Amino acid sequence: MQRVSDDRLLKNDSYINGDWLSSGEKFSVSNPASGEIIARVSNAGISETELAIESAKKAFPAWSAMSANERARILHKWFELLMQHQHDLGIILTSEQGKPLAEAKGEIAYGAAFIEWFSEEAKRVYGDTIPAPSGDKRIVVIKQPIGVVAAITPWNFPNAMMARKAAAALAAGCTFIVRPASQTPLSALAMAELADQAGIPAGVFNVVVGEDASGMGKVLSQHPDVTKFTFTGSTPVGKLLISQCASTVKRVSMELGGNAPFIVFDDADIDAAVQGALISKYRNAGQTCVCTNRIFVHEKVIQAFTDKLMTEVKNLSVGDGLTEGVEIGPMISQQACDDVLKLIRASEKLGASTVLGGQPHIAGENYLQPTIMTGVKNDMPIASNEIFGPVSAIIPFRDEAEVIAMANDTEYGLAAYFYSRDIGRIWRVAEGLAFGMVGINEGIISNAAAPFGGVKQSGNGREGSKYGLDDYLEIKYLCMGGLNS
Ligand code: NAP
Repeated sequence: MQRVSDDRLLKNDSYINGDWLSSGEKFSVSNPASGEIIARVSNAGISETELAIESAKKAFPAWSAMSANERARILHKWFELLMQHQHDLGIILTSEQGKPLAEAKGEIAYGAAFIEWFSEEAKRVYGDTIPAPSGDKRIVVIKQPIGVVAAITPWNFPNAMMARKAAAALAAGCTFIVRPASQTPLSALAMAELADQAGIPAGVFNVVVGEDASGMGKVLSQHPDVTKFTFTGSTPVGKLLISQCASTVKRVSMELGGNAPFIVFDDADIDAAVQGALISKYRNAGQTCVCTNRIFVHEKVIQAFTDKLMTEVKNLSVGDGLTEGVEIGPMISQQACDDVLKLIRASEKLGASTVLGGQPHIAGENYLQPTIMTGVKNDMPIASNEIFGPVSAIIPFRDEAEVIAMANDTEYGLAAYFYSRDIGRIWRVAEGLAFGMVGINEGIISNAAAPFGGVKQSGNGREGSKYGLDDYLEIKYLCMGGLNS
């Protein structure tokens, strides 16, 4: 791995109860850009996961009883340390995940912003008083931390998907265990080192890393001492975990897959739409849950839009994310490349045209050419599946009602985007799209102040914003009676 300036960030063991827990058995973490093994990590399993839950349970009474101000101070320190180490954390992230270094550093800042945001929100867990139905009673509502939170996070944002959850959970007064994806454990471990330096007490924040996703997932989703379970990943795994959580009736929040429509109306600013499509489609090599998946373009402007998009995409520089100037890194694995190529080939057979790219890239076995397909139909594999790769699938349309119906014709409901300059249309379309988040003349929409989350099979719950704490709080109703005597 490229050298980092602070070696303390390079950790290879799980972080449980404030200690680094080594084990004899190791697994390898490799750089998707080169295949080079960059770390050998202790392979934790079921017993280490149980130990982490036990330590989170023990730490809960003191952490939840700490004043909100004190928790806020510690979380803010963590935020500061993450930003101080942004460059090193970016190198670790790019080395295990592949995205270009500038994007990786952007992810560090984005994840840290949630920790900063929730350090402030920790002080605003307000309750309520409610007029009672009789004069001798008072109704008071207080909010309390839900308890021990377990999280499982994916490889595509190894820092931010975990930061978004941990920030809100810890701010609310919960204790936390995360199992990051086994392909990308190093970013979470580096964050644990900085959590330790920030003074987060032992047991409050735990990271268990191991290859046994199913076994560790069962413990985290079924253990009676875990009261809240939160997951970011694919919809099929999310469904399995929800069913496992049913055995102990846990509170659950799920950030699952997406199939984002990106609609360009004939009144749109085409240049702005092209820039929006470029960033929302090709960042992280198309491997984000809010990535544009289907680009619907009005037939009057489809030629102009496609030509301009082609010019931009042709110029994207593909290569190792640690090389200066690279804009598209490798896919996470060769399997991921093959899955995308299969969608392209199957859709070509049904009549779609690949007008740019569509093949493996010469940079290496995990790389794909940035691709554009035209003549796509909404029911072709490249449109009906979450692509998770650098492919624009362009679908023509004629009228507003038709395109809203096509956009909504998916089991997913995470993000949607559209470009228009007509204020009436903007309201009609924004309200008509069945998605949790809608970018209007914007291709990048997520930030700590806004509620991130989906509807339908894209999940439930919200991360970020003033709503984000609710997922980690219980409402308790206090009825005070006998007040007249
Ligand atoms: P995935 O297969 O569901 O993996 C996600 C996480 O679940 C990984 O940590 C994985 O561990 C773990 N896992 C896999 N099988 C498991 C099981 N049986 N029990 C418990 N844990 C299990 O998802 P992916 O394909 O890697 O990630 C991409 C998906 O995540 C896409 O669908 C994307 O849209 C979604 N995503 C959603 C959001 C959002 O906020 N809505 C954000 C990012 C990504 P291992 O990797 O070690 O197997």
